[in-house]
Amino acid sequence: MHNSVRIRLRPYHITGIIAFIGTGPRDGHFNGANSIAEIIARGTGFEIEATTKFDDICVSCQKRYARSQGSVWGKHHSCVSAENPEVVAQVAEENAYIFRALGLQEGSIISAREWLTLVSEKIPDIQNLPNSGGCAEQDNYLKGIALLKKTYHLRANW
Ligand code: SF4
Repeated sequence: MHNSVRIRLRPYHITGIIAFIGTGPRDGHFNGANSIAEIIARGTGFEIEATTKFDDICVSCQKRYARSQGSVWGKHHSCVSAENPEVVAQVAEENAYIFRALGLQEGSIISAREWLTLVSEKIPDIQNLPNSGGCAEQDNYLKGIALLKKTYHLRANW
């Protein structure tokens, strides 16, 4: 199947975006999660490319700014988080965990169905993953998975 839309996502956005689907759009949210969630919630006409650099959610983030020398997360831009070594280390640790759990790596490309199968089977719990949303988002995460399974017409326990 040809997917016309490719969405670049950081590992913790590969998980965390699901909580946005669980709640629906969030007023005034600081980054592009609402619009990416809308595309993902619509159906399976997309694929995901995994990246540890700035992704398609970062593109419209209010905390990102142009910087000629770039940053740890990409050329030409930096952001509030990229300038905080503690945050960078925590994100790197969570990203590595998510890559391991899902069997993905930098540049991996997966279809919508592959993605939903992987996250729901391999990471059913985000409570210890603060960048994915943590405890506060666990219920929304499960709700998002249930909504997506219904939308994508998948069996509940495949
Ligand atoms: S704070 Fe930085 S890493 Fe987080 S969404 Fe914004 S640009 Fe991306």
